Amino acid sequence: MKYYAPKGLYDIKPEEMPYWHAVEEEVRATMPLHGYEEIRTPIMEKTEVFARGVGEETDVVSKEMYTFEDKGGRSMTLRPENTASVVRAYLEHKFYGKEELSKWYYLGPMFRYESPQKGRSRQFHQYGAEAIGSDDPALDAEMINLAVDLLTSLGLDEVGLNLNSIGCPDDREDYIDELIDFLTPRKDQLCHDCQERLKTNPLRILDCKNHTCQSVVEDGPEITDYLCSECQSHFDEVRAYLSELNLSYELDPKLVRGLDYYTKTVFEVYSSDLGAQDALVGGGRYDGLVKLFGGDPTPAVGFAGGIERLVLLLEELDSVDLETRDLDVYLASLDRETKKRGLALVNELREAGVKAEIDHLDKSLQGQLGYADRYGAEITAILGPQEIAEEEVTLRDMETGDQTRVSITEFSSRVIEQLNSAG
Ligand code: AMP
Repeated sequence: MKYYAPKGLYDIKPEEMPYWHAVEEEVRATMPLHGYEEIRTPIMEKTEVFARGVGEETDVVSKEMYTFEDKGGRSMTLRPENTASVVRAYLEHKFYGKEELSKWYYLGPMFRYESPQKGRSRQFHQYGAEAIGSDDPALDAEMINLAVDLLTSLGLDEVGLNLNSIGCPDDREDYIDELIDFLTPRKDQLCHDCQERLKTNPLRILDCKNHTCQSVVEDGPEITDYLCSECQSHFDEVRAYLSELNLSYELDPKLVRGLDYYTKTVFEVYSSDLGAQDALVGGGRYDGLVKLFGGDPTPAVGFAGGIERLVLLLEELDSVDLETRDLDVYLASLDRETKKRGLALVNELREAGVKAEIDHLDKSLQGQLGYADRYGAEITAILGPQEIAEEEVTLRDMETGDQTRVSITEFSSRVIEQLNSAG
């Protein structure tokens, strides 16, 4: 064995696919119900899209990006998340002039150079939604509802919701001053990274995973005490709408999220069944991002959820139908001549929507029947020289073993009849 997938990158094998399809189908079914259309942005962008959009001092940008120079000497980055790309696309295609409120969803791979562990990989997949063009607190509540709705529709009811408001940049400035005053005398207790963050981006200390850092900030100032009246009333309204939607949540004043673009509402949906990497969905409002990219100030809100973690949970739930390669019909041929006719017959079945396969492994009839059985064929159609001579095909019911002969011209209609009558 010479080649392995790179560290932290995984194959999604055929037997895992039903879970992925379940998630993808739920996303594609639920998003339009809430008025979201799909958008697909490229898998890479110029590095500055993320450096600027996500924030130079965030872990994602400073440590986790897959950045390289392309053959034209441009610095390119594999997308670590999709919001910055979506906002870039919004501005590039001047959607602000085409629709008052853009509501988009996406699904696809993201890349972060992180330490791989259960539920955390270097290529992972996210689904997410972005609504650009409104500052209505009801939209924040709907966005949260959408994120939760998707999970509950998939059968996960043990999910928790954490909510906070991180206010506007002015509020944060006041808060950060207080936070620095609080943390500076306690600097020695912080991890090495957080000692740096105290100089570059103190807010990031709040989402440091280090337990000691967490216990230090525990007694520190809380951002919700620094909200201006507008941010406070926005937050109050979001909470009122959430109550209308019967969504219960916990207020988490230390929740700031790892990306710099958030303003006002931030939230996280988690599952306690997941262990250390328990966050399933993260999101919030990002009213400053469109302007940061050179557009007119345009409020927006969104979320992203991780598919790998969702799949881990679905595997435990046992609620996804796992049948994969269940054949309807297997066509057993006995030599080159019968195989030629068989190929055309199998094609006829597929055109009629019947799942059918033919032998490609030069198996004996016995071997072919074994193969048909393994892949759950209901009928094996046997085409030997004798059948060809009589312009007929033998149909073997794989459950009962009963065999009947049908004429080649009626082959597909008789097969379909038999499949239907078997239910
Ligand atoms: P974020 O974009 O950091 O807000 O993350 C949103 C969601 O994406 C998280 O709650 C996870 O479910 C998922 N996620 C983020 N990073 C990873 C990763 N490295 N591996 C797997 N899932 C991830």
